[in-house]
Amino acid sequence: MALRTLTLSSSWGDLLLSGGSRAGEGTLLVLPQLRLALDIGRPHRILPPVTTACLSHGHIDHLGGLAYWASQRYLNSMGPATLLVPEPIAADVTELLNLHARLEGGKPYDIDLKPVSAAAVHPLRTDFHLEFFPTDHWIPTLGSRVLWTRRRLLPELAGVEPAELAALRKSGTQITSEIVTPLVSYGADTGPGLFANKRALDAEILLLECSFWKDGDLERARTYGHLHISDLLEIAPYLKCRHLVLLHASRRTRLHEVEQIMAAELAPVFGGQLHHMMVEWE
Ligand SMILES: [Zn+2]
Ligand SMILES: [Zn+2]
Repeated sequence: MALRTLTLSSSWGDLLLSGGSRAGEGTLLVLPQLRLALDIGRPHRILPPVTTACLSHGHIDHLGGLAYWASQRYLNSMGPATLLVPEPIAADVTELLNLHARLEGGKPYDIDLKPVSAAAVHPLRTDFHLEFFPTDHWIPTLGSRVLWTRRRLLPELAGVEPAELAALRKSGTQITSEIVTPLVSYGADTGPGLFANKRALDAEILLLECSFWKDGDLERARTYGHLHISDLLEIAPYLKCRHLVLLHASRRTRLHEVEQIMAAELAPVFGGQLHHMMVEWE
C-alpha cells in the first residue's frame, strides 16, 4: 500500500510526514526525521525504524500497527523503543504487548511503555520534546505537540567579540535565551470541543481529523466525538498555521469527493496551505 508523504516547510526546515488515514480503518502518522510516530493504526514497513511511538487512544484504527512494530523491532534486533500511552489504558496496552510476545514464543518486547497524561512532557532529543493535551473524543484520548527548542544569543550581546562571549559563558553568565517553537500539533480523534484549547491549535503544522463531509452526517459526528466539515469551515478563517493537514475521513465519503470539498469550500477560507493524508487502505 502506497502511503502519502508530505514535505512541509517549517521554521526548522522541511519536515516529512508519511502515513495514511481513514476513520475506522487506520491512522498511521510517522515523522521519519525524528523516528517518531504520532499514531500507529496500521502495520506498515515504515514503522520498525520508529523509536518513539504515541498511541492517542485505544480504538483499533489507532493501535492496529502496535504488535507489528514491537515484533519487527524484536525480530530484527533493533534495540529498545518507547511507547507513550494515555494513562487510563496503559495497563491494558501493557497486557496486550505481553500477550503478543507470549504468543510469539519469545521474550518480552524491548518496549518501554510510559503512561502519559494531559500536560505531560516527554523529551525526544536535546532540541525536540513532546507535549500532550486531552481531546474531545468519547474515550480517553490525547493529542500531541512536537516542540523544537533552539538557543539564541541575548540581543544585548549582539556584536560582542567571540572571545569575550566565551569568557562570559565560562564565568557562568547566561548569554543565550531559549526559543521554543510548536512545530506540529496532532488533534487525534476529536469533536469541536478541542477548539477551546488554543495551545492545541498553535503550531506551524496542524493535523486535524475531519471524519464526516456530508450535511446529513453532523449528528453522527457529534454522537461519536468527531469533526464535521462544517466545524472546519467555521474555524479555518481563524487558524494561523502554515499547513493544515486533514485526516480520518470516513469511508462514507470517497477520496475524490473529499478533495473536491477541500478545494471548493475549505481552501477559500483558510490562509495557509491545505493538505490531506487520506488513503484508500486495501
Ligand atoms: Zn479513529
Ligand atoms: Zn477513536
